[in-house]
Amino acid sequence: MDVAEPLTEAGAAGLRAVTHAPRSTLVALDFDGTLAPIIDDPERAVVHPDAVAALAELGGLVGTIAVVTGRPARTAVRLGGFTDHAGLGSMVVLGQYGVERWDAATGAFDVPPEPAEVTAAGEELPALLESLGLGAARVEHKGRALGVHTRELEDPQQAFRTLLTPVQALADRHGLTLEPGRNVLEIRAPGTDKGDAVRRLVAETGATQVVFAGDDLGDLPAFEAVAALREDGLPGLLVASASHEEDALSDRADVVVDGPAGIAAWLRDLSARIRAAQAG
Ligand SMILES: [Mg+2]
Repeated sequence: MDVAEPLTEAGAAGLRAVTHAPRSTLVALDFDGTLAPIIDDPERAVVHPDAVAALAELGGLVGTIAVVTGRPARTAVRLGGFTDHAGLGSMVVLGQYGVERWDAATGAFDVPPEPAEVTAAGEELPALLESLGLGAARVEHKGRALGVHTRELEDPQQAFRTLLTPVQALADRHGLTLEPGRNVLEIRAPGTDKGDAVRRLVAETGATQVVFAGDDLGDLPAFEAVAALREDGLPGLLVASASHEEDALSDRADVVVDGPAGIAAWLRDLSARIRAAQAG
């Protein structure tokens, strides 16, 4: 497939910086919708097979490959199948928006315990749902967050509207943040976002340029962080994966590709450009 050239001048500068100094490049990517297709059962959202191969190839050429995701780090590593690839020996996976971490080099997970406020809110949830006649709503415990899913209920949107105010009140009582999504209400411990995570990775690795690829609103802070780094003189390249229902980032991206398959092709092309620059 044809791989799009960077659409902006800043993107072109970012790409030149990457091919000029790949070893000091950070390539950070979101997981769902970027490396893995969005599917109904999120427990089956494995990485696109071309994408993990392309990442492993690129991993042999650049300084650091990082996955930055809202999912728990363990889940992302399991679904990503990142453990068995020679090129991913120094990969980093940041889970829960940067609170959790896995380092391929050691195989170690750093997963802080669930905050007490989240535990307490989780204990109150079943009775609250029962009192609203929505005891059948599925509650997902994610460590630093709780998801109340209405997708499987008879009238998901009505249930969502019924839940909004009482779940907001529950979150407020425990000092948690409510984040409404599509047929899900997520209450989350305050913490970090993907922008913080990307800034920390840049500082830690000493990257002299950064690539970030994402697909939806949760990636916006990372896009903004890269844009701010560019203003400070650090070249960057922003890639949007725009296949699924949401197309939140295309306006701000240098390159727009078609979903995880498009990301895989783009990563391969990036490796080819780096090799060509090294040969030339
Ligand atoms: Mg995503």
